[in-house]
Amino acid sequence: MEAAAPVTGIAQESAPAPAPETGQHLALADEFLAHNYHPLPVVVAEASGAWLTDVDGNRYLDCLAGYSALNFGHGHPGLLAAAHAQLDRVTLTSRAFHNDQLGPFARDLARLAGMDAVLPMNTGAEAVETAVKMARRWGYQIKGVPEDRAQIIVAAGNFHGRTTTIVSFSSDPEARTGYGPFTGGFVTVPYGDADALAAAITDDTVAVLLEPIQGEAGVVIPPAGYLPRVRQACTDANVLFLADEIQSGLGRTGATFALEHEGVEPDAYILGKALGGGILPVSAVVSRREVMGVFTPGSHGSTFGGNPLAAAVGRAVVALLETGEFQARARELGEVLNRGLLELVGRGVVEVRCRGLWAGIDIDPALMTGREMSERLMRRGVLVKDTHGSTVRIAPPLVVEKDEIDWALEQFGDALTRP
Ligand SMILES: *Cc1c(COP(=O)(O)O)cnc(C)c1O
Repeated sequence: MEAAAPVTGIAQESAPAPAPETGQHLALADEFLAHNYHPLPVVVAEASGAWLTDVDGNRYLDCLAGYSALNFGHGHPGLLAAAHAQLDRVTLTSRAFHNDQLGPFARDLARLAGMDAVLPMNTGAEAVETAVKMARRWGYQIKGVPEDRAQIIVAAGNFHGRTTTIVSFSSDPEARTGYGPFTGGFVTVPYGDADALAAAITDDTVAVLLEPIQGEAGVVIPPAGYLPRVRQACTDANVLFLADEIQSGLGRTGATFALEHEGVEPDAYILGKALGGGILPVSAVVSRREVMGVFTPGSHGSTFGGNPLAAAVGRAVVALLETGEFQARARELGEVLNRGLLELVGRGVVEVRCRGLWAGIDIDPALMTGREMSERLMRRGVLVKDTHGSTVRIAPPLVVEKDEIDWALEQFGDALTRP
Protein backbone atom coordinates (compact mmCIF):
# COMPACT_ATOMS: atom_id res chain seq x y z
CA MET A 1 0.00 0.00 0.00
CA GLU A 2 1.17 3.44 -0.94
CA ALA A 3 1.18 6.01 1.89
CA ALA A 4 -1.57 8.59 1.55
CA ALA A 5 -0.37 11.92 0.18
CA PRO A 6 -0.29 14.64 2.82
CA VAL A 7 -3.45 16.71 2.67
CA THR A 8 -3.12 20.46 3.10
CA GLY A 9 -5.52 22.37 5.32
CA ILE A 10 -6.87 24.17 2.28
CA ALA A 11 -7.56 20.97 0.38
CA GLN A 12 -9.22 19.41 3.40
CA GLU A 13 -11.72 22.16 4.00
CA SER A 14 -12.44 22.65 0.30
CA ALA A 15 -12.60 19.07 -1.00
CA PRO A 16 -16.07 17.73 -0.26
CA ALA A 17 -16.71 13.98 -0.13
CA PRO A 18 -17.24 12.67 -3.69
CA ALA A 19 -20.79 12.30 -4.98
CA PRO A 20 -22.24 8.76 -4.60
CA GLU A 21 -21.60 7.29 -8.08
CA THR A 22 -18.13 8.80 -8.19
CA GLY A 23 -17.32 7.41 -4.75
CA GLN A 24 -18.20 3.87 -5.81
CA HIS A 25 -15.89 4.02 -8.82
CA LEU A 26 -13.04 5.52 -6.81
CA ALA A 27 -13.38 2.62 -4.36
CA LEU A 28 -13.28 0.04 -7.16
CA ALA A 29 -10.20 1.65 -8.67
CA ASP A 30 -8.51 1.71 -5.31
CA GLU A 31 -9.27 -1.96 -4.61
CA PHE A 32 -8.75 -3.59 -8.01
CA LEU A 33 -6.43 -1.43 -10.10
CA ALA A 34 -2.66 -1.22 -9.94
CA HIS A 35 -1.81 2.13 -8.37
CA ASN A 36 0.49 3.27 -11.17
CA TYR A 37 -1.54 6.48 -11.65
CA HIS A 38 -2.88 9.14 -9.30
CA PRO A 39 -5.94 10.36 -11.24
CA LEU A 40 -8.08 13.31 -10.29
CA PRO A 41 -11.22 12.09 -8.48
CA VAL A 42 -13.49 12.48 -11.49
CA VAL A 43 -15.17 9.49 -13.17
CA VAL A 44 -15.97 10.14 -16.82
CA ALA A 45 -19.05 8.52 -18.29
CA GLU A 46 -19.49 10.36 -21.61
CA ALA A 47 -17.81 12.92 -23.79
CA SER A 48 -18.46 15.02 -26.85
CA GLY A 49 -16.19 17.54 -28.54
CA ALA A 50 -14.25 19.33 -25.82
CA TRP A 51 -16.62 18.36 -22.98
CA LEU A 52 -16.78 15.47 -20.52
CA THR A 53 -19.68 14.37 -18.33
CA ASP A 54 -19.04 12.42 -15.14
CA VAL A 55 -21.12 9.62 -13.61
CA ASP A 56 -22.89 12.13 -11.38
CA GLY A 57 -23.86 14.34 -14.30
CA ASN A 58 -21.28 17.11 -13.82
CA ARG A 59 -19.72 18.63 -16.94
CA TYR A 60 -16.07 19.54 -17.46
CA LEU A 61 -14.09 21.24 -20.20
CA ASP A 62 -11.36 18.77 -21.19
CA CYS A 63 -8.11 20.75 -21.14
CA LEU A 64 -5.87 17.69 -21.34
CA ALA A 65 -7.30 15.96 -24.43
CA GLY A 66 -5.80 12.60 -23.51
CA TYR A 67 -2.29 14.09 -23.59
CA SER A 68 -3.09 15.23 -27.16
CA ALA A 69 -4.50 11.87 -28.27
CA LEU A 70 -7.81 13.75 -28.62
CA ASN A 71 -6.69 16.65 -30.82
CA PHE A 72 -9.90 16.34 -32.88
CA GLY A 73 -12.12 16.15 -29.81
CA HIS A 74 -14.25 13.39 -28.38
CA GLY A 75 -16.44 11.60 -30.90
CA HIS A 76 -15.41 13.56 -33.99
CA PRO A 77 -18.19 12.61 -36.46
CA GLY A 78 -15.87 11.97 -39.40
CA LEU A 79 -13.54 9.78 -37.37
CA LEU A 80 -16.42 7.87 -35.77
CA ALA A 81 -17.92 7.29 -39.22
CA ALA A 82 -14.62 5.90 -40.52
CA ALA A 83 -14.37 3.59 -37.49
CA HIS A 84 -18.00 2.44 -37.69
CA ALA A 85 -17.73 1.67 -41.41
CA GLN A 86 -14.56 -0.34 -40.91
CA LEU A 87 -15.94 -2.22 -37.87
CA ASP A 88 -18.51 -3.84 -40.14
CA ARG A 89 -16.00 -4.79 -42.83
CA VAL A 90 -12.81 -6.22 -41.30
CA THR A 91 -10.95 -5.17 -38.16
CA LEU A 92 -7.86 -7.36 -37.96
CA THR A 93 -5.88 -9.33 -40.49
CA SER A 94 -2.35 -9.40 -38.98
CA ARG A 95 0.46 -8.49 -41.29
CA ALA A 96 0.57 -12.09 -42.55
CA PHE A 97 -1.88 -10.79 -45.18
CA HIS A 98 -2.40 -7.42 -46.81
CA ASN A 99 -5.51 -5.39 -46.02
CA ASP A 100 -7.16 -2.78 -48.20
CA GLN A 101 -6.83 0.06 -45.65
CA LEU A 102 -3.12 -0.09 -44.86
CA GLY A 103 -1.62 0.85 -48.23
CA PRO A 104 -3.76 3.97 -48.65
CA PHE A 105 -3.08 4.97 -45.01
CA ALA A 106 0.68 4.60 -45.48
CA ARG A 107 0.59 6.59 -48.74
CA ASP A 108 -1.44 9.42 -47.21
CA LEU A 109 0.63 9.60 -44.02
CA ALA A 110 3.92 9.57 -45.95
CA ARG A 111 2.62 12.41 -48.14
CA LEU A 112 1.51 14.43 -45.11
CA ALA A 113 5.02 14.09 -43.65
CA GLY A 114 6.87 14.67 -46.91
CA MET A 115 8.43 11.21 -46.53
CA ASP A 116 8.09 7.95 -48.43
CA ALA A 117 8.07 5.01 -46.00
CA VAL A 118 5.83 4.15 -43.04
CA LEU A 119 6.08 1.46 -40.35
CA PRO A 120 2.81 1.25 -38.40
CA MET A 121 2.69 0.23 -34.74
CA ASN A 122 0.16 0.79 -31.93
CA THR A 123 1.45 2.76 -28.96
CA GLY A 124 3.88 5.64 -28.93
CA ALA A 125 6.47 3.67 -27.00
CA GLU A 126 6.44 0.98 -29.67
CA ALA A 127 7.06 3.57 -32.35
CA VAL A 128 10.01 4.96 -30.35
CA GLU A 129 11.38 1.40 -30.00
CA THR A 130 10.93 0.99 -33.75
CA ALA A 131 12.91 4.17 -34.43
CA VAL A 132 15.68 3.05 -32.05
CA LYS A 133 15.95 -0.32 -33.84
CA MET A 134 15.85 1.38 -37.24
CA ALA A 135 18.63 3.80 -36.29
CA ARG A 136 20.83 1.05 -34.87
CA ARG A 137 20.48 -1.15 -37.97
CA TRP A 138 21.04 1.86 -40.20
CA GLY A 139 24.19 2.60 -38.23
CA TYR A 140 25.59 -0.89 -38.67
CA GLN A 141 24.47 -1.58 -42.22
CA ILE A 142 24.68 1.82 -43.90
CA LYS A 143 26.92 4.08 -41.81
CA GLY A 144 29.36 1.28 -40.95
CA VAL A 145 29.43 1.54 -37.15
CA PRO A 146 31.18 -1.53 -35.63
CA GLU A 147 28.75 -4.11 -34.24
CA ASP A 148 27.15 -3.34 -30.86
CA ARG A 149 28.79 0.08 -30.60
CA ALA A 150 25.87 2.24 -31.80
CA GLN A 151 25.06 5.25 -29.65
CA ILE A 152 21.93 7.38 -29.66
CA ILE A 153 21.98 10.88 -28.16
CA VAL A 154 18.93 11.91 -26.12
CA ALA A 155 18.07 15.01 -24.07
CA ALA A 156 17.72 15.39 -20.32
CA GLY A 157 14.11 15.78 -19.27
CA ASN A 158 12.86 13.63 -22.15
CA PHE A 159 9.72 11.55 -22.16
CA HIS A 160 9.59 8.86 -24.84
CA GLY A 161 7.47 6.16 -23.17
CA ARG A 162 7.61 3.42 -20.58
CA THR A 163 9.35 0.31 -21.94
CA THR A 164 12.50 -0.96 -20.23
CA THR A 165 14.72 0.37 -23.02
CA ILE A 166 13.02 3.77 -23.06
CA VAL A 167 13.16 4.30 -19.29
CA SER A 168 16.84 3.34 -19.58
CA PHE A 169 17.46 6.82 -21.00
CA SER A 170 14.90 8.71 -18.94
CA SER A 171 16.24 11.24 -16.44
CA ASP A 172 13.14 10.96 -14.24
CA PRO A 173 13.88 8.85 -11.13
CA GLU A 174 10.17 8.01 -10.77
CA ALA A 175 10.16 6.43 -14.22
CA ARG A 176 13.40 4.46 -13.65
CA THR A 177 13.73 3.42 -10.03
CA GLY A 178 13.71 -0.32 -9.55
CA TYR A 179 13.64 -1.20 -13.25
CA GLY A 180 17.32 -1.92 -13.93
CA PRO A 181 19.41 -3.39 -15.43
CA PHE A 182 19.05 -0.80 -18.15
CA THR A 183 19.69 -0.86 -21.88
CA GLY A 184 22.99 0.72 -22.87
CA GLY A 185 23.90 2.77 -25.92
CA PHE A 186 22.28 6.08 -24.95
CA VAL A 187 24.04 9.34 -24.15
CA THR A 188 22.17 12.18 -22.42
CA VAL A 189 22.90 15.86 -23.10
CA PRO A 190 21.15 18.99 -21.77
CA TYR A 191 18.02 19.97 -23.75
CA GLY A 192 18.33 23.20 -25.71
CA ASP A 193 22.16 23.25 -25.86
CA ALA A 194 23.23 22.59 -29.46
CA ASP A 195 26.95 22.85 -28.65
CA ALA A 196 26.71 20.15 -25.99
CA LEU A 197 24.81 17.95 -28.43
CA ALA A 198 27.32 18.46 -31.25
CA ALA A 199 30.19 17.76 -28.84
CA ALA A 200 28.61 14.45 -27.82
CA ILE A 201 28.57 13.09 -31.38
CA THR A 202 31.22 10.44 -32.05
CA ASP A 203 31.91 8.03 -34.93
CA ASP A 204 29.59 5.57 -33.18
CA THR A 205 26.63 7.97 -33.01
CA VAL A 206 23.79 6.73 -35.18
CA ALA A 207 20.98 9.06 -34.14
CA VAL A 208 19.77 11.99 -32.10
CA LEU A 209 16.34 11.40 -30.56
CA LEU A 210 14.49 14.52 -29.44
CA GLU A 211 11.06 15.97 -28.72
CA PRO A 212 10.90 19.31 -30.61
CA ILE A 213 9.01 20.54 -27.54
CA GLN A 214 9.27 18.52 -24.33
CA GLY A 215 5.68 17.76 -23.31
CA GLU A 216 5.86 15.82 -20.06
CA ALA A 217 8.72 18.03 -18.88
CA GLY A 218 6.17 20.89 -18.82
CA VAL A 219 5.89 22.08 -22.45
CA VAL A 220 9.55 23.10 -22.58
CA ILE A 221 10.26 25.02 -25.80
CA PRO A 222 13.94 25.03 -26.78
CA PRO A 223 15.64 28.34 -27.71
CA ALA A 224 15.05 29.54 -31.29
CA GLY A 225 17.77 28.19 -33.57
CA TYR A 226 18.41 25.08 -31.47
CA LEU A 227 16.57 22.62 -33.69
CA PRO A 228 18.13 23.91 -36.96
CA ARG A 229 21.55 23.60 -35.35
CA VAL A 230 20.77 20.04 -34.23
CA ARG A 231 19.69 19.29 -37.80
CA GLN A 232 22.95 20.70 -39.15
CA ALA A 233 25.07 18.78 -36.64
CA CYS A 234 23.29 15.54 -37.61
CA THR A 235 23.75 16.20 -41.33
CA ASP A 236 27.45 17.09 -40.89
CA ALA A 237 28.19 13.92 -38.92
CA ASN A 238 25.94 11.54 -40.90
CA VAL A 239 23.63 10.96 -37.92
CA LEU A 240 19.86 10.45 -38.10
CA PHE A 241 17.60 13.07 -36.54
CA LEU A 242 14.65 11.21 -35.01
CA ALA A 243 11.85 13.60 -34.05
CA ASP A 244 9.46 12.30 -31.40
CA GLU A 245 6.35 14.25 -32.43
CA ILE A 246 3.98 11.89 -30.61
CA GLN A 247 2.64 14.74 -28.48
CA SER A 248 3.86 17.85 -30.35
CA GLY A 249 2.73 16.71 -33.79
CA LEU A 250 -0.52 16.48 -35.74
CA GLY A 251 -1.81 20.00 -35.26
CA ARG A 252 -1.25 20.68 -31.57
CA THR A 253 1.26 23.52 -31.97
CA GLY A 254 -0.42 25.23 -34.92
CA ALA A 255 1.48 23.25 -37.54
CA THR A 256 1.28 19.63 -38.67
CA PHE A 257 4.67 19.07 -37.02
CA ALA A 258 6.29 21.25 -34.35
CA LEU A 259 9.58 21.14 -36.29
CA GLU A 260 7.93 23.19 -39.04
CA HIS A 261 8.07 26.27 -36.81
CA GLU A 262 11.86 26.08 -37.15
CA GLY A 263 11.88 25.03 -40.80
CA VAL A 264 13.49 21.71 -39.90
CA GLU A 265 12.95 18.29 -41.53
CA PRO A 266 14.01 15.23 -39.54
CA ASP A 267 15.12 11.86 -40.91
CA ALA A 268 12.15 10.25 -39.21
CA TYR A 269 8.99 11.37 -37.48
CA ILE A 270 7.76 9.27 -34.59
CA LEU A 271 3.98 9.66 -34.36
CA GLY A 272 1.23 8.35 -32.11
CA LYS A 273 -1.46 9.75 -29.82
CA ALA A 274 -3.69 11.86 -32.15
CA LEU A 275 -2.93 9.51 -35.05
CA GLY A 276 -5.55 7.18 -33.53
CA GLY A 277 -8.16 9.94 -33.44
CA GLY A 278 -8.79 9.26 -29.73
CA ILE A 279 -10.47 6.01 -30.77
CA LEU A 280 -7.71 3.44 -30.65
CA PRO A 281 -3.93 3.34 -30.36
CA VAL A 282 -2.21 4.04 -33.68
CA SER A 283 1.45 4.94 -34.00
CA ALA A 284 4.01 4.99 -36.77
CA VAL A 285 7.54 5.79 -37.79
CA VAL A 286 7.58 7.81 -41.00
CA SER A 287 10.91 8.06 -42.75
CA ARG A 288 12.74 7.73 -46.04
CA ARG A 289 12.96 4.46 -47.94
CA GLU A 290 16.77 4.40 -47.78
CA VAL A 291 16.59 4.37 -43.95
CA MET A 292 13.46 2.25 -43.54
CA GLY A 293 14.99 -0.24 -45.98
CA VAL A 294 17.06 -1.74 -43.15
CA PHE A 295 13.95 -3.60 -41.99
CA THR A 296 13.59 -7.00 -43.65
CA PRO A 297 10.79 -9.58 -43.24
CA GLY A 298 10.82 -10.98 -39.72
CA SER A 299 13.17 -8.32 -38.31
CA HIS A 300 10.43 -6.28 -36.64
CA GLY A 301 6.65 -6.27 -36.33
CA SER A 302 3.47 -6.25 -34.30
CA THR A 303 0.30 -8.38 -34.36
CA PHE A 304 -1.96 -5.34 -34.24
CA GLY A 305 0.22 -2.76 -35.99
CA GLY A 306 -1.34 -1.65 -39.27
CA ASN A 307 -4.65 -3.41 -38.63
CA PRO A 308 -7.45 -2.29 -40.96
CA LEU A 309 -9.48 -0.56 -38.23
CA ALA A 310 -6.44 1.45 -37.11
CA ALA A 311 -5.50 2.22 -40.71
CA ALA A 312 -9.02 3.41 -41.56
CA VAL A 313 -9.09 5.74 -38.55
CA GLY A 314 -5.50 6.88 -39.15
CA ARG A 315 -6.30 7.67 -42.75
CA ALA A 316 -9.32 9.74 -41.68
CA VAL A 317 -7.05 11.60 -39.23
CA VAL A 318 -4.60 12.38 -42.03
CA ALA A 319 -7.49 13.65 -44.17
CA LEU A 320 -8.52 16.05 -41.38
CA LEU A 321 -4.96 17.33 -41.11
CA GLU A 322 -4.68 17.79 -44.87
CA THR A 323 -7.35 20.50 -44.70
CA GLY A 324 -5.10 22.64 -42.44
CA GLU A 325 -8.19 23.64 -40.47
CA PHE A 326 -7.01 22.22 -37.14
CA GLN A 327 -3.53 23.68 -37.45
CA ALA A 328 -5.11 27.10 -38.12
CA ARG A 329 -7.43 26.78 -35.10
CA ALA A 330 -4.49 25.84 -32.89
CA ARG A 331 -2.58 28.89 -34.12
CA GLU A 332 -5.43 31.36 -33.69
CA LEU A 333 -6.86 30.05 -30.43
CA GLY A 334 -3.34 29.49 -29.13
CA GLU A 335 -2.84 33.25 -29.27
CA VAL A 336 -5.97 33.74 -27.16
CA LEU A 337 -4.73 31.17 -24.65
CA ASN A 338 -1.22 32.63 -24.54
CA ARG A 339 -2.45 36.22 -24.08
CA GLY A 340 -4.83 35.21 -21.30
CA LEU A 341 -2.19 33.21 -19.46
CA LEU A 342 0.44 35.93 -19.76
CA GLU A 343 -1.97 38.28 -17.94
CA LEU A 344 -1.72 35.94 -14.94
CA VAL A 345 2.05 36.21 -14.70
CA GLY A 346 2.86 37.94 -11.42
CA ARG A 347 -0.59 37.05 -10.08
CA GLY A 348 0.31 33.56 -8.92
CA VAL A 349 1.82 32.43 -12.20
CA VAL A 350 5.60 32.54 -12.53
CA GLU A 351 6.07 31.55 -16.16
CA VAL A 352 4.01 30.56 -19.20
CA ARG A 353 5.29 28.55 -22.18
CA CYS A 354 2.77 28.31 -25.00
CA ARG A 355 2.94 27.04 -28.58
CA GLY A 356 -0.37 26.69 -30.35
CA LEU A 357 -3.03 25.21 -28.06
CA TRP A 358 -0.41 23.78 -25.74
CA ALA A 359 0.73 25.56 -22.61
CA GLY A 360 2.91 24.78 -19.62
CA ILE A 361 2.19 27.08 -16.69
CA ASP A 362 4.48 27.33 -13.66
CA ILE A 363 2.48 28.29 -10.57
CA ASP A 364 4.34 30.04 -7.77
CA PRO A 365 5.43 27.03 -5.66
CA ALA A 366 4.84 29.07 -2.50
CA LEU A 367 1.13 29.17 -3.43
CA MET A 368 0.43 25.52 -4.24
CA THR A 369 1.45 22.43 -6.16
CA GLY A 370 0.30 21.68 -9.70
CA ARG A 371 -1.84 18.93 -8.22
CA GLU A 372 -3.63 21.38 -5.92
CA MET A 373 -4.22 23.71 -8.89
CA SER A 374 -5.61 20.79 -10.92
CA GLU A 375 -8.01 19.95 -8.10
CA ARG A 376 -9.15 23.57 -7.81
CA LEU A 377 -9.78 23.69 -11.54
CA MET A 378 -11.65 20.38 -11.42
CA ARG A 379 -14.05 21.87 -8.86
CA ARG A 380 -14.63 24.70 -11.36
CA GLY A 381 -15.32 22.33 -14.25
CA VAL A 382 -11.94 22.48 -15.99
CA LEU A 383 -9.78 19.35 -16.24
CA VAL A 384 -6.02 19.78 -16.56
CA LYS A 385 -3.01 17.71 -15.55
CA ASP A 386 -0.09 18.73 -13.42
CA THR A 387 3.41 17.71 -14.42
CA HIS A 388 6.35 18.08 -12.06
CA GLY A 389 6.14 20.27 -8.96
CA SER A 390 4.00 23.35 -9.50
CA THR A 391 3.56 23.10 -13.27
CA VAL A 392 0.23 22.44 -14.95
CA ARG A 393 -0.35 21.88 -18.62
CA ILE A 394 -3.27 22.98 -20.77
CA ALA A 395 -3.97 21.22 -24.05
CA PRO A 396 -7.66 21.31 -25.00
CA PRO A 397 -8.97 19.48 -28.05
CA LEU A 398 -8.41 21.65 -31.13
CA VAL A 399 -12.20 21.83 -31.64
CA VAL A 400 -12.53 24.01 -28.54
CA GLU A 401 -14.25 27.38 -29.08
CA LYS A 402 -12.84 30.81 -28.25
CA ASP A 403 -15.47 31.56 -25.59
CA GLU A 404 -14.66 28.22 -23.93
CA ILE A 405 -11.00 29.21 -23.71
CA ASP A 406 -11.99 32.60 -22.29
CA TRP A 407 -14.12 30.83 -19.70
CA ALA A 408 -11.32 28.39 -18.80
CA LEU A 409 -8.95 31.35 -18.37
CA GLU A 410 -11.42 32.99 -15.96
CA GLN A 411 -11.55 29.78 -13.95
CA PHE A 412 -7.76 29.63 -13.95
CA GLY A 413 -7.47 33.18 -12.62
CA ASP A 414 -10.07 32.48 -9.96
CA ALA A 415 -8.42 29.22 -8.88
CA LEU A 416 -5.15 31.07 -8.27
CA THR A 417 -6.81 33.11 -5.55
CA ARG A 418 -9.40 30.80 -3.93
CA PRO A 419 -9.59 27.04 -3.23
C1 LIG B 1 2.95 9.85 -24.84
C2 LIG B 1 4.32 9.94 -25.42
C3 LIG B 1 5.04 8.78 -25.73
C4 LIG B 1 4.55 7.39 -25.41
O1 LIG B 1 3.34 7.07 -26.03
P1 LIG B 1 2.45 5.86 -25.45
O2 LIG B 1 1.36 5.72 -26.45
O3 LIG B 1 1.98 6.26 -24.10
O4 LIG B 1 3.35 4.66 -25.40
C5 LIG B 1 6.27 8.95 -26.33
N1 LIG B 1 6.77 10.16 -26.59
C6 LIG B 1 6.10 11.30 -26.31
C7 LIG B 1 6.70 12.62 -26.65
C8 LIG B 1 4.86 11.22 -25.68
O5 LIG B 1 4.22 12.34 -25.36
